[in-house]
Amino acid sequence: MQETVIDAHNLSKIYDEQTIPVYALNGVHLHITRGEFTAIKGPSGSGKTTLLNMIGGLDTPSDGYVEINGTKITALKGNDLIDFRLNNIGFVFQSYNLIPVLTAKENIEFILLLQKRPRKEREQRVLELLREIGLEDKINKRPRELSGGQQQRVAVARALAPKPQFILADEPTANLDSVSADNLLDMMAKLNKEENMTFVFSTHDQRVIDRARRVITLEDGKIVADTSPTKIEHDQTE
Ligand code: ADP
Ligand code: MG
Repeated sequence: MQETVIDAHNLSKIYDEQTIPVYALNGVHLHITRGEFTAIKGPSGSGKTTLLNMIGGLDTPSDGYVEINGTKITALKGNDLIDFRLNNIGFVFQSYNLIPVLTAKENIEFILLLQKRPRKEREQRVLELLREIGLEDKINKRPRELSGGQQQRVAVARALAPKPQFILADEPTANLDSVSADNLLDMMAKLNKEENMTFVFSTHDQRVIDRARRVITLEDGKIVADTSPTKIEHDQTE
């Protein structure tokens, strides 16, 4: 049986722009199981960021709820929400969002420090991650000394450090050239395959969409398509 990681039920978000309400999300149901490698696509303004922010507990829905491994994240508040996010969800953003004054090692270690993990465990985990992202030689470099692609790899390692349930990545390749974007996707696909890490990423880059095993299409805040290309092929041969 497939283990449910994310269960979003009837999610809606209305931004009140003066008097005209805008539905950024409109009755979205979404079910993600462990080990998925899923892309959320859709034109600018279709609700991708809003959906990821709701799933990650960075914003609250106007209606509906989100359960992460059976915990209703939309009902958590204050420190409970912060702790739950730190322990369960890895975030990767379009603009990397590394801390400029910290080295690659310190950026990756940051969440483990917040979690008060022992030094030895922190060091081991950071080294293991630097190896996995192929940047062992950049351990003491600060973000400005790294390329965009390298910074985004560090951001993925930082997100992975506390061994989250899944990684949410909002247009992670938007600021990367096509070679760096491809390398980042290779790395994410490898972590998905070897560690069964669940990835949910938004994108409007067709080359990135082609790498996903499941593609969810948003339009005007609604899911208008949900396809798993490998599954369709499989079904047709039966
Ligand atoms: P995407 O990530 O697909 O580009 P968004 O989730 O950012 O889409 O936006 C969905 C809709 O919600 C858009 O119409 C956008 O203008 C609106 N929106 C997003 N954030 C806000 C906000 N903070 N206040 C008002 N409207 C917003
Ligand atoms: Mg967006």
